[in-house]
Amino acid sequence: MSKYAVFEQEIQRLKDNKTYRTIPVVQSANDAIITLNNQEVINLSSNNYLGFANHPRLKKAAKEAIDQYGVGAGAVKTIAGHMQLHQQLEEALATFKHEEAVMLFQSGFNCNAGVISAIVDKEDLILSDQYNHASIIDGVRLTKSSKMVYRHNDMTHLEEILKEHRQKHRQCLIITDGVFSMDGDIANLPEIVKLAKKYNALTYVDDAHGSGVLGRSGRGTVDHFDLHNEVDFTIGTLSKAFGVIGGYVATKKIIKDYLSFKARPLLFSTMLPPSVAAALLEAISMLEQSDEYTTKLWDNANYFKEKAKACGFDIGHSETPITPIFVYDEAKTVAFSKQLLEKGVFVSPIVYPTVPLNQARLRVMISASHSKEQLDQALTILEEVAKQLEIL
Ligand code: PMP
Repeated sequence: MSKYAVFEQEIQRLKDNKTYRTIPVVQSANDAIITLNNQEVINLSSNNYLGFANHPRLKKAAKEAIDQYGVGAGAVKTIAGHMQLHQQLEEALATFKHEEAVMLFQSGFNCNAGVISAIVDKEDLILSDQYNHASIIDGVRLTKSSKMVYRHNDMTHLEEILKEHRQKHRQCLIITDGVFSMDGDIANLPEIVKLAKKYNALTYVDDAHGSGVLGRSGRGTVDHFDLHNEVDFTIGTLSKAFGVIGGYVATKKIIKDYLSFKARPLLFSTMLPPSVAAALLEAISMLEQSDEYTTKLWDNANYFKEKAKACGFDIGHSETPITPIFVYDEAKTVAFSKQLLEKGVFVSPIVYPTVPLNQARLRVMISASHSKEQLDQALTILEEVAKQLEIL
């Protein structure tokens, strides 16, 4: 038997299921139109909500920072220090989010892994929403805490668990996505905060898809519900609406201080390049100056969702620009995406294990950078291919 039999069998299984895929190669900047596998296509697959990934102002800021500070941060910050641009970015994010302090991480993923594993231990209990992101699940796995999953956004179930188990533990941490990444619905944060107060629990919101999208000028889900100072940990990513890369936690000063000793990605992994921090500082000042980007995003999202619904697509219960198009059947979803690509529309299939089995869908990601003409053209092609495949 081959030494690699385990891997070969799994790849064969994916091929048999018709869910095997290759990673497409993009030959252009990430934008509304991209060159993918040498073909120009309408891009409905990026989290580049505000069109910042290829924005001239961010690019200029990054180039200037490279000239002044070089391309790398040097070493982990506990050894080499962090650059003043990183410090300025933490301060700017804290002001933008209306929180006491912000700690930067290298990505949203390792922010979740690093923060969750640092703040709870074996005496503690974690309560996590059923549909939380993989990076939360992995962060939870890194702890020795007791763990329980509550049904998606089901506050009755959450309270049942709190009632029965809270008093057996030192701390209790309730973790939820702010915006759920595969369905686009929003967590019931007001109720979570209420329950957390009643049962003396800590609250933790992963706002990767809420940052730059919800709230005033994209201040996030906490701002959307006007719950400033009520959520103990707000996580954000800087790779989606903010257009670059990185993650952060907005929290109390004392917790930031604690994390600087305990969060392992900060102790053992090098900080973001200075050009990234500079581009992000520019992104924040653009959002502070104007809500034109978030307004355009929501205008495009509402336009697309209305029209998709009118075509007869099943778009679920999204409350945000994330627009799932449910197909349910795994292989058909993959075929749908492939045929769309041939006709010039790039929209990724989302299949098991990213979502539960037989919940397969396309996930259309709307951006402020799309024009109405591009959205119309994409809808025409979506409808045409869906009819051919008897999805509509
Ligand atoms: N949390 C959620 C809810 C996400 O959707 C993602 C990105 N898919 C992350 C965290 C990870 O963010 P990043 O890409 O910055 O690592």
